Amino acid sequence: MDESGSEVDTDLCGSLTGLAGDLRAADTAVALIGAGLSAASGIPTFRGEDGVWGEVFDPAAFHRSRFERDPAGFWRDRLDLYDHMEPTDGAEPNPAHYALAELVDDGVLDAVITQNTDGLHSAAGTGNVIELHGSNARVVCDRCESTRKAGPVRRRARGGELPPTCPCGGIYKPDVVLFGELLPAVAHSRAERLAAESDVFLVAGSSLTVDPAASLPARIGTGTLAICNLERTRYSDTAAYDIRADVTTVLPALVRLL
Ligand code: NAD
Repeated sequence: MDESGSEVDTDLCGSLTGLAGDLRAADTAVALIGAGLSAASGIPTFRGEDGVWGEVFDPAAFHRSRFERDPAGFWRDRLDLYDHMEPTDGAEPNPAHYALAELVDDGVLDAVITQNTDGLHSAAGTGNVIELHGSNARVVCDRCESTRKAGPVRRRARGGELPPTCPCGGIYKPDVVLFGELLPAVAHSRAERLAAESDVFLVAGSSLTVDPAASLPARIGTGTLAICNLERTRYSDTAAYDIRADVTTVLPALVRLL
């Protein structure tokens, strides 16, 4: 039991105390976030238990080549994906999002690098977020590259405008990185630099299988790698802390310790 009354087992307590000490001593500390962070907000992950890839959706349907070949079919499948992924009454940040926001506010974390596209870090008021995979809250025109809010464009698509088009005649695409696309260059190079500079690199809620984001832990030099994920990852053997526990328990507990 910790001071707030939550159940935290002894091994976990030891790891959290060690990690809190390392975070306190760090000049640069950064978090890399994955879909597991939003699971408690009702947004399913792609992999791991109950992941939607394979069983429910085929990742090939969301490849860049599908968007180019069959933009109407791509959008139809994308609307189905939103229906499946997004709670009908809207997703809210959970205690793990708020804990991260607090860690940035307090200067414990210098930045949050996120693979998530759900906008919940912003909703939690987190500063200095690097969106590696873009945001589902926006769409971008494939011709003039202008962006706009996704809501009205999605409504047009649901009303039958498939694919939805920009006034310039181009086709709107969700402003996220599809399979077969490169990461946004500025965000990617910032993330790589931060990883290389970090004294502590904390991964939370990521299967660490989607490259190039999943290769960021390999960029850290002498820094400490800490992972908090329900399942094993490819860095589990080399991480200084490999915490197999729920992020909504671990991150708020870290905030309390710090
Ligand atoms: P992933 O789906 O590959 O893996 C998520 C991991 O989180 C799994 O290993 C799972 O065991 C773990 N997990 C689930 N609930 C957890 C919890 N409560 N506490 C701790 N761990 C938990 O996610 P990824 O590594 O981010 O990569 C997937 C890709 O999917 C990314 O490109 C991302 O853009 C996209 N994605 C985003 C969202 C979102 O924005 N919320 C949701 C699904 C997928």
